[in-house]
Amino acid sequence: MTAAETSPEHLLSGPEKDPAGDAGHRDAPPRVGFFTDTSVCIGCKACEVACKEWNAIPEDGLSLSGMSYDNTQGLGASTWRHVAFIEQPTGSSGSRPPAPPAAPGPEGRALLPLTDAPAPAASAPGSGELRWLMSSDVCKHCTHAACLDVCPTGSLFRTEFGTVVVQEDICNGCGYCVPACPYGVIEQRPTDGRAFKCTLCYDRLGAGQEPACAKACPTESIQFGPLDELRERAALRVDQLHEAGVPEARLYGHEPDNGVGGDGAFFLLLDEPEVYGLPPAPVVTTRDLPAMWKHAGAAALSLLGGVTLSFALPALTRRKGSR
Ligand code: SF4
Ligand code: SF4
Ligand code: SF4
Repeated sequence: MTAAETSPEHLLSGPEKDPAGDAGHRDAPPRVGFFTDTSVCIGCKACEVACKEWNAIPEDGLSLSGMSYDNTQGLGASTWRHVAFIEQPTGSSGSRPPAPPAAPGPEGRALLPLTDAPAPAASAPGSGELRWLMSSDVCKHCTHAACLDVCPTGSLFRTEFGTVVVQEDICNGCGYCVPACPYGVIEQRPTDGRAFKCTLCYDRLGAGQEPACAKACPTESIQFGPLDELRERAALRVDQLHEAGVPEARLYGHEPDNGVGGDGAFFLLLDEPEVYGLPPAPVVTTRDLPAMWKHAGAAALSLLGGVTLSFALPALTRRKGSR
């Protein structure tokens, strides 16, 4: 670890090698997280259901939104996993090629055709053809988690696994964490005001089990494991897809020097992040706090100096006049 990575300046932003250690966990296990490969997501929503079931999350509205098959619409206090369904015209002005079809592998796992597959052809403009982009979104378990930084009660905390967990019995419902999250993940439950989000199944991790959503995913779109290993696996997967004629494959949130110091849950996407409803360049909202406090301190000192002078100068003038 370099001196720069352990510097106190990096406690709120910048590269941070050991978030669990910096949170006071001695001999912490390797940091774990998710690599979500959206190129093999089939939109089955098994992950959403498994999360609801394992965590006993209440129902949060089953009305159809009129926006495709996405009836949960986004992450929230009662939706800790959300499978986005994005309908994208192919061959029209966007000229997006259709996504390569998933083929079943020998063990029933869906495998993308890699080297033998012919390059996908774009549909004729205006043909009205669509492709589906599906992506299972979740809390990013940020290296620099603004939700945790601003929580006044310690309800949000960093676990020994490097994940970010909210304790519902300590949350006082102040809601500071909600605008602090650069991804719009954490939300207060309207019924009691307390904040909820994915815990990365802290209870299961403690028992040596993988998170319920990853366990339920039939295509291994959601991969769980040590973050360093996941990053290596993801880089290989992107290379594979590029070789297979899918040049739009890219990683999102994997870089340790991005605006939040790297996500504990990162993604392989087949289009720009905005298409999936993800911010293109998120920044931890508490990054500028030290600079703000410095400016506030300087302003307070200037004010104090001005007030002192305003009292001292007339007194000095009076003393000179009386001589
Ligand atoms: S994504 Fe939002 S809620 Fe999740 S750890 Fe980061 S700041 Fe907190
Ligand atoms: S890790 Fe656990 S809490 Fe988080 S989305 Fe998956 S099942 Fe839900
Ligand atoms: S991530 Fe896996 S479980 Fe979730 S919708 Fe996609 S394929 Fe299904």
